[in-house]
Amino acid sequence: MKNLAVFVNSVNKNELMEMVRAYQAYVNFSYEKTDGFDEYFYSDEITDDKIIITSTICGKTTVEEYDLPNDTLNKKKFARRFGKRSIYKTLKEYSGEWLPYGCLTGVRPTKLYAELLREGIDAKGEFTGFFDVTPEKAEHVARIVKNQEKLLKIEKDEVDVFVNIPFCPTRCAYCSFVAVSMKQLRKYLESYVETLKNEISIIKNVINENNFKVRAVYFGGGTPTSIPVPMLKSLIDLCDFKAKEFTVEAGRPDTLTKEVLDMMANTAVTRISVNPQTFHDKTLKLIGRAHTVEDTLRAYDLAKNYDFIVNMDLIATLPGENFDDFKYSVDKAISLNPENITVHNLSLKRGSVLTESHYEPLNLKDAEKMIDYSVSALTDAGYEPYYMYRQKYNTGNLENSGYAKPDTECVYNVDIMEENCNILAAGAGAISKRLFREENRIERLADVKDVKGYIERAETLRERHEKFWKK
Ligand code: SF4
Repeated sequence: MKNLAVFVNSVNKNELMEMVRAYQAYVNFSYEKTDGFDEYFYSDEITDDKIIITSTICGKTTVEEYDLPNDTLNKKKFARRFGKRSIYKTLKEYSGEWLPYGCLTGVRPTKLYAELLREGIDAKGEFTGFFDVTPEKAEHVARIVKNQEKLLKIEKDEVDVFVNIPFCPTRCAYCSFVAVSMKQLRKYLESYVETLKNEISIIKNVINENNFKVRAVYFGGGTPTSIPVPMLKSLIDLCDFKAKEFTVEAGRPDTLTKEVLDMMANTAVTRISVNPQTFHDKTLKLIGRAHTVEDTLRAYDLAKNYDFIVNMDLIATLPGENFDDFKYSVDKAISLNPENITVHNLSLKRGSVLTESHYEPLNLKDAEKMIDYSVSALTDAGYEPYYMYRQKYNTGNLENSGYAKPDTECVYNVDIMEENCNILAAGAGAISKRLFREENRIERLADVKDVKGYIERAETLRERHEKFWKK
């Protein structure tokens, strides 16, 4: 791997550094003068109507100049785009490697693609041209945008409700969510659920006062099915919004019992997830899941006795797995025939056990091969990709994609990714979103992230929600 010291001088430095970091799979970076490292200096100057970029790498200087639009918002947007593209081109040439998503660093490529289409631009051409996205990735994004057309027909007064239950049986080695082990958190469980019930009631008032209609309810976490069944039932029953879709993440197969399934079958719940992540016991042990493949199969068999739409999550590039291991898991999931399959690419965020233990992820080429296989195997098996997002902390910023058999898509997943629907959220770390469509902006209201802090601030919840949703 080549060694490169990078120096960026720009008002957009934070955003431009995302482009530099995207090349970490191929270049070893330093951000200060370092012996034995090549050097790359980037600087830009933004005038009233232009951006002038000067780049010097290994002593060779180039200057680029591009026109910018007049309005402030677009001017900023295009200045960042030109800056990222310049860095991308420089690093592509320096490393000799092409990134699958080119100079696109955003989390939501589908949102950008749809925006370009609305502006009457040839979005696929722009993706493969300006952004240098591979034709395969551009096609994947295009297919998802097409599949979302029918799902994005939303009335102005429709909202989603999200409820966070941040408890899990054990902590996965890659987890950086608000999820501490049940053992550590058990003492807070009762007061957490009480606070949560109170917040759901506050949300209900907001919904009634604004005449909102609830489109989808989503219980996430954490693993909602890891709390006692009567507690979970009381929370589900409180969310009697008559939504067409009601998901409960039952991610850990070891939490899925006949008792909890019977209970959910008699409520408004329509969709659950049983997440194998992998069909290899050796990997499950390595990632601290505390369940076996047999548990997954048993839980899935049980779940299929009910009318729920079932989702299965898989993760590519898990520790110790190669392409064949991942392929086996994809094929196994397909053979089980759940309505939805979601393929994630392992994300190593700060705070996870894997990150702390300096786990080295697979190289980008292997990760790409896995993701590419999942796309072809799933689409060949009749699953359509219908939502996607990219994460900043995984190999090559590859995508996570949700697939569904016809008419079984989860609209909440689309709404959260495309940011096209108001979301009223309850629970530690939950984020409500309010759309101001005319002004093309979104406001967010985040609940306190840690469970103890959330309970301690229970008194402030009413005022915060009422203020946030005030007309
Ligand atoms: S199941 Fe999900 S939320 Fe729970 S510990 Fe594992 S990754 Fe974290």
